Amino acid sequence: MSSTKLPILTKSTIRISAWISGVIIVLYLLFNFFTVLILDHQLEERLDHHLTHEIEHFMNAFYFEGDSFIMINPAEFRESDLVEITENPFFLQIYSESGKLYFRSENLNSHSPIPLESVDLSDDEYHLKNLMTGGEVLRCGYKKIVNTEGRPTAILQLSIHKATALAVSTNILLFNLITFPLILIFIVFISIFIARKSYQPINRIIEISRKISTSNLKERLHFKADPADEIGRLRDTLNDLFDRLEHQIGQITQFTDNASHQLMTPLTVMKTELEFIQKKCTREGCKDSLIILDEQTQRMTHIIKTLLILAKDCKDCTDTRTVFNLKRLVEDDIKQLFKEYNINYTIESEVLLRGNKDYFSMVIQNLINNAIKYSPADSKILFRVISKNSHTKIFVEDFGIGLSDKDRDRIFERFYRGAAAENSDIPGYGLGLSLVSSIVRSMGGTVDVEKNKPQGTIFIITVPELRTD
Ligand code: ADP
Repeated sequence: MSSTKLPILTKSTIRISAWISGVIIVLYLLFNFFTVLILDHQLEERLDHHLTHEIEHFMNAFYFEGDSFIMINPAEFRESDLVEITENPFFLQIYSESGKLYFRSENLNSHSPIPLESVDLSDDEYHLKNLMTGGEVLRCGYKKIVNTEGRPTAILQLSIHKATALAVSTNILLFNLITFPLILIFIVFISIFIARKSYQPINRIIEISRKISTSNLKERLHFKADPADEIGRLRDTLNDLFDRLEHQIGQITQFTDNASHQLMTPLTVMKTELEFIQKKCTREGCKDSLIILDEQTQRMTHIIKTLLILAKDCKDCTDTRTVFNLKRLVEDDIKQLFKEYNINYTIESEVLLRGNKDYFSMVIQNLINNAIKYSPADSKILFRVISKNSHTKIFVEDFGIGLSDKDRDRIFERFYRGAAAENSDIPGYGLGLSLVSSIVRSMGGTVDVEKNKPQGTIFIITVPELRTD
């Protein structure tokens, strides 16, 4: 009966957020991977360009005559980048294929040796490759040297530290890895935001639909949406459904209303006639039959009156202009009606409620009647009224036969009677609680049912209070 409060993260929101987060994370990782890959490739290209340029430069600073290495410009070979381990040093080695070393830059004395790799020198191209030495990555360029007679004589190897270039992309990767948890949290929040945003129109539809189904069948879903898109189509389909529902319910209500009215007239006549015959009849046998007939007529009148109220969905109960004092109602009417029973009343304070006093009296009477009916004779019943957060709560507690879980879900249905009630021949026709729920709902309230301890049932009515302060 009471409306359930939705959690901030519903299962659907979590599912959609997980999908969005997953996709964004994969895209983020792919983006990083390719950024580093492209950056690495570009840096390597720049290094290679630099290396080939420098090799070209050195090639003009010497020549080979036969097997003799002759420097043209010795100053080139004494540049600081070849002598010391500067920020970006060059390591130069000139050697023959058999391993004979012609030149070795001075800075290699204080550096781990670079192997004299024998590369395929059948062409005149530059050969470039990575080499690991002393835990460092070097980018090495090779070039074939021919002597003055045109015979391939030696190999020039120029190496450069790759680490400096690599550092940039490594740093980017490291930065991204360290910041990943933060980015992950950010992505999850963004995903939840997107998921909640995309469910917003659906939640609005649910909210309005719920209002339509419980209070006003005339209301419709009104919000802007393209009739061709999903939300627009859902709105139109639901509005069509509400149209048909309103029409059908209208017909049923009209029928129940008409039928009840039509039945009330002959019943009233029958009751008057019965009272008249009862007064006239003196024969014992006939008196008993008349008493039974009278009881049954009263029973039918009660059922039809209840059906009349239910058929109108308790429209007369919601009299917003009238206010009544709940404490007075209990003290003056209810206590008087149930004075023979073992009922303990606790009413904390004066409570003013908006609505029809007679209908609300029916609510209390029904609940107390049930508590009496479904408990052993003279069993204790507790009637409590408390005020909390501008709402009044009325508890009707009994220690009787109690309710099974299956029955608890259905007792507010019209004409539904619990198995225990049916089997133990307790009189009733399953309309009392439908009436209770209809009246309370029309006052903007709720009815809840709980198990009592050690046994029995607690009915809890919650209705909005009229503030007097
Ligand atoms: P009726 O009492 O006429 O059968 P109600 O609509 O008042 O109809 O109640 C519906 C059903 O709910 C009952 O048949 C009974 O099974 C169950 N019920 C109601 N009140 C109680 C209660 N206080 N304890 C146990 N069962 C109850």
